[in-house]
Amino acid sequence: MRAILTAGRYFREKFNVNVYKVPISIFGFTCPNIDGSVAKGGCIFCENESFSPNLEHNTERPKRFFLQPNTSHNPYLDFQLLQLETQFKKTQTSLRKKFGAKKFIVYFQSFTNTYAPLETLKALYTKALGFEDVIGLSIGTRTDSISSDVLEYLAELALKHEIWVEYGVQSSYDQTLQRINRGHDSANIASSITLTRQYGLNVCTHMIFGLPQETQEMMLESVKFALSLDVQSFKFHPLYVVKKTALAHDLNKGAFTPITEEVYIDTLVKAVGLLPSHVMIQRVSAGIGDTSLLAPDWCYDKHLQMLKIRQAFARNGWSY
Ligand code: SF4
Repeated sequence: MRAILTAGRYFREKFNVNVYKVPISIFGFTCPNIDGSVAKGGCIFCENESFSPNLEHNTERPKRFFLQPNTSHNPYLDFQLLQLETQFKKTQTSLRKKFGAKKFIVYFQSFTNTYAPLETLKALYTKALGFEDVIGLSIGTRTDSISSDVLEYLAELALKHEIWVEYGVQSSYDQTLQRINRGHDSANIASSITLTRQYGLNVCTHMIFGLPQETQEMMLESVKFALSLDVQSFKFHPLYVVKKTALAHDLNKGAFTPITEEVYIDTLVKAVGLLPSHVMIQRVSAGIGDTSLLAPDWCYDKHLQMLKIRQAFARNGWSY
């Protein structure tokens, strides 16, 4: 049985201990695909709060404030730093209790986490790296929201810490990227990942299987495209539809058919088969177990989904 290089295995081998990611959502961050800089409305599947379990609703701060990378104005930095600390410590305490966790990576997960003034990013990243037992950062962002200044700063941090940049790639096909209102094309993906690698940073790419009108062959070509850019890790997701999204509208009109569980797992197995053994896999499943899920039904029970994926991997002689 070949052990797939999961995030757990990768970090255990590197640090001799289990490392846990702590997801963080910071007030004021947005996305250029939502605030109108690139487009409005966001990706057709995006209802961002559904991806943000840690997002707090605090009545003491204004409802509308959004960071902009081209201005250093940020009257809420102290609030954001406090929010970072509160979220981190809460999750850290619970992970210590539940799993005896000893080391942590702070994961800036929601929205576009480099779409902010550099001074704000520096303050947040420095604070996060100063928490007890934090060994690094993982920063989720878009390929059109990264600058040489930010990459240079991250490369400096990477001299002493484990730093990952997570890019939503989703597909390498421009017609798909347009269809999902992604707001950038595959040339932008290629140039930004290439630049990130030139700074020596680790790159994790998110891929979605089941995007509108994509065949399995296209999904696998997108994986090959990301591999050709020398990425170090993948997160694979099936596309599922939640309420209050443009995709929900398409689903209701009968204009979108979700990927089946069988096709997703078959595509996943084929995609994993393409990866060299040093490429780490951080995620192979996704879903949401509440009433916001519209389709497909099999994305409701993530445990069952994971069980079937493990069984499919086992049939190929892989342990996950
Ligand atoms: S890039 Fe992310 S946050 Fe922005 S619209 Fe797309 S899914 Fe939503």
